Amino acid sequence: MIPSNLSKDTIVALSTAAGHGAIAVIRLSGPEAISIVQSVFKGKNLQNQPSHTLHFGTIRDDEKILDEVVVSLFKGPNSYTKEDVIEVSCHGSPYITEQIIKLFLRKGARLAEAGEFTKRAFLNGQFDLAQAEAVADLIASDSALTHQVAMKQMRGGFSQEIKALRAQLIHFASMIELELDFSEEDVEFADRSALRRLISSLQRLITDLLQSFEMGNVLKNGVPTVIAGKPNAGKSTLLNALLNEEKAIVSDIPGTTRDVIEDEALISGIRFRFIDTAGLRETQDKVEAIGVARTKEQLQKASLVLYLFDLASTTPQEVQEEMSALDLPQVPSLLIGNKKDLASPEQLSTFSGLENLVFISADTKEGLEELKDALLEQVHANEAITGDRTIVTNLRHFQSLQKTSDALQEVLKGLDGGLTGDWLAADIRRCLFYLGEITGEITTDDLLDNIFTKFCIGK
Ligand code: GDP
Repeated sequence: MIPSNLSKDTIVALSTAAGHGAIAVIRLSGPEAISIVQSVFKGKNLQNQPSHTLHFGTIRDDEKILDEVVVSLFKGPNSYTKEDVIEVSCHGSPYITEQIIKLFLRKGARLAEAGEFTKRAFLNGQFDLAQAEAVADLIASDSALTHQVAMKQMRGGFSQEIKALRAQLIHFASMIELELDFSEEDVEFADRSALRRLISSLQRLITDLLQSFEMGNVLKNGVPTVIAGKPNAGKSTLLNALLNEEKAIVSDIPGTTRDVIEDEALISGIRFRFIDTAGLRETQDKVEAIGVARTKEQLQKASLVLYLFDLASTTPQEVQEEMSALDLPQVPSLLIGNKKDLASPEQLSTFSGLENLVFISADTKEGLEELKDALLEQVHANEAITGDRTIVTNLRHFQSLQKTSDALQEVLKGLDGGLTGDWLAADIRRCLFYLGEITGEITTDDLLDNIFTKFCIGK
C-alpha cells in the first residue's frame, strides 16, 4: 500500500504556527533528513548519534551563521512518520525560519504538502485513519470536551470499537462462507438465530454511534441559539451577561438591537453560538423591519430558541401568544422570564403554568447558573460531559456508519426472508467494506487526499 515514491522524498515544513515566537520548529522527514541537516549543521555528527537525542549547534549557509539551534533526532522507524525525522528548534523569527527552510530546500528537501507528515505516518502504519484524523481534531480542539473526544479517538478508542464490530462480522462471514464450501451437502454451520442476534446487537451499537453524531456536531460546531423576545426584554443584557463582555448594544430605546449579532460562549465545554435578534414586533420602521425578517430567518437555522420576556410587564397569555407566533415546530425552546428583580412574588406565581421556564435577572445575574444548566439540558449535553460514551464527530465516519447500518439491515432482511448464504455473504462484505473505510483498511487516493489536504502544512 505504500507508494514506492513516498519515502524517496525528504520533506520539510515549519511545524509551529507562523509569526514571531520564542521558538519555532522546522521538521524534516525522509531518507535524506539526517544528511541534509548534517550538511549545514556545525555540531556533532548526527549520523553517529543514537535516536531520540538532542544536539546543540549552529545552522550555517556557507560560513554565515543563520541561527543557533537544537536538533532533535528521531531515527526511523521510531519516529512519528516511521522515517528518519529531524526537528530543528530555532529562534522564532519568520525571517530565520524562511532562511533555514530555503537552505534545506537547496540541499535537496522539498516542501511538505498539507498533512503530509501525518499521511506518511498513516501509510507507514503508525496509526489508522480515524486516529490520523483525530490528530487534526486535537489541534483544533478548544474546549475540555472537544479535547477529550479527540484524545480518545487519537489513542485508538473509537478505532477499537469499529475493529471489534468488524471482527464479529468477519467471524459471521467466515461461518457463512464455510457453508458455501459445503453447499452440496446442505449443511448449516451458521446457526441462523444466533446470526440474527449478532446482527441485531451490531445494529444497536451502530445506531448508538450514529445517534452520538448529533452531540458530535454540537461539540464541533456549537449550538446555534437564537435569543428572541420583544424589544427591551433584556436580550442584549442577557447576552452580555453570558458572554461576560460588552459586545451587543444595550439601550433603553426599544428596537436598538437592529442587527443580528452572533457571539459564542462556552458553557461546561459546550459552545453556544448566540444570535441576538431584533424583536419580533410589527414595525413601520424600514431598518427594523429588515431586522424582524432576519430574526425569522435566524429562527429557521436555530437548534435552540430562547424566548426572553420582561416579567414585570408581560402576562403568561402574552408569552403563550408570542410563542405560537414564533411558530417553532421542531426546535427545542426555553422560556426566560427576565427582570425578576422588578417582579413581585405574586407576579412570578402567575407564570407557574408555563413549562420550560427559568426566572432570571440579566442585570443582577441572578438565576444565570440555573439558566446555564437548563441550556445544557436542552441539548442533552450532560451525557457527553460526564460519561465516556464514544462520540462520533466526523461526518465521514457518520456516513460510513450509515452505509454499514443500511447493509446490516439488508442482512437482517435476508435472514428473515431465508436468503441463501452467498447473498448474505455479499451484504456482509459490504458492511466490512464500509467499516474498513473508517479505520483505513479500505482507502483510495481521493479519500486520502480529501482528508489530509484539510490538515495544515507541517502537520
Ligand atoms: P433588548 O432590547 O431586549 O436587547 O433589551 P436590553 O438588553 O437593551 O435591555 C433593555 C433595558 O432593560 C436596559 O435598560 C437594561 O438595563 C434593562 N434590563 C435588562 N435586564 C434587566 C434586569 O434583569 N433587571 C432590570 N431591572 N433591568 C434590566
